[in-house]
Amino acid sequence: MSAVLTAEEFLTEGERKQVSAAIAEAELRTSGEVRVHLDDRTVDDVLEHAAFIFEELGMHRTKDRNGVLIYVSVADRKTAIIGDKGINERVPPRFWNDALGVLQLHFAAGRQADGIREVVALVGEKLRAYFPYQSDDRDELSNEVSIGRS
Ligand code: CA
Ligand code: CA
Repeated sequence: MSAVLTAEEFLTEGERKQVSAAIAEAELRTSGEVRVHLDDRTVDDVLEHAAFIFEELGMHRTKDRNGVLIYVSVADRKTAIIGDKGINERVPPRFWNDALGVLQLHFAAGRQADGIREVVALVGEKLRAYFPYQSDDRDELSNEVSIGRS
């Protein structure tokens, strides 16, 4: 395993921009909203903590309840994906696990930015199937990668 990285170090600034661009691109096709959040680490259960961050980022306030958070606890590479109820009710549960598998595969190979971008695209495709882009769509949640301050 490589050196322990902080959330700030996990993606370069350029890579963060690429991730934001991937989110913006995914959101051109869906009314759904995707966010990526990186923490240095979490001592809590990763899924519980991701659910907490989801609330903290106000992601439960989208009109169609179709926000999806891709969460990474960097030190231990723990990951979780939280979909709000609008999307969660529609996708098969294993979709999220498959997406996490893709993320882990890339992380194991040191391709964190590629992994996140690929999963953003996967999630975007899924959102598009259930929540196609509407002409009155707004960008309800920032496309910037958020970094936890711990
Ligand atoms: Ca939107
Ligand atoms: Ca957005």
